[in-house]
Amino acid sequence: MDKDPLLAHDWIKMNMKFPGFCLICKQRVNSAEVGYWSRSAKSILHQDCYNLSGLHFKKNQNSFKNKAVHSQKNGDSLLAEFITERENKEKCFICSKQINFHDNLIMTLLKLERNISTLDTIYCSTCLSRSDLHIFEEYKHAFSNKLKSG
Ligand SMILES: [Zn+2]
Ligand SMILES: [Zn+2]
Repeated sequence: MDKDPLLAHDWIKMNMKFPGFCLICKQRVNSAEVGYWSRSAKSILHQDCYNLSGLHFKKNQNSFKNKAVHSQKNGDSLLAEFITERENKEKCFICSKQINFHDNLIMTLLKLERNISTLDTIYCSTCLSRSDLHIFEEYKHAFSNKLKSG
């Protein structure tokens, strides 16, 4: 396999059964230490190295429980700009209430939005949470599709 082993999709968190060397920092990983192992990459990583590597961003694409969806710095500053610009102006597409950009749900969705500067339809958290709407699901779906195609 000539693919970058770090791009393997099967990193599993586990207690190391054997000592080895971390693919990223090349330092020793002791047996019984918690780290990550990939069958396809035939490699192991320190837990910290894994966390710092950005690999878990991909892993978390379907786990919405993890609210800390990290964007690159670029995305973050775009998001900050977006909020400054639209705060107190943006209204919910459905109920026309003003959007609270500090709401967790709203923030999560905004962070998922790759093309935030062209985003023109926003929903308030009340509408997003309504069970008869599937916007949130659609967002999630769209997001994981983007990841798969990217
Ligand atoms: Zn390491
Ligand atoms: Zn609304």
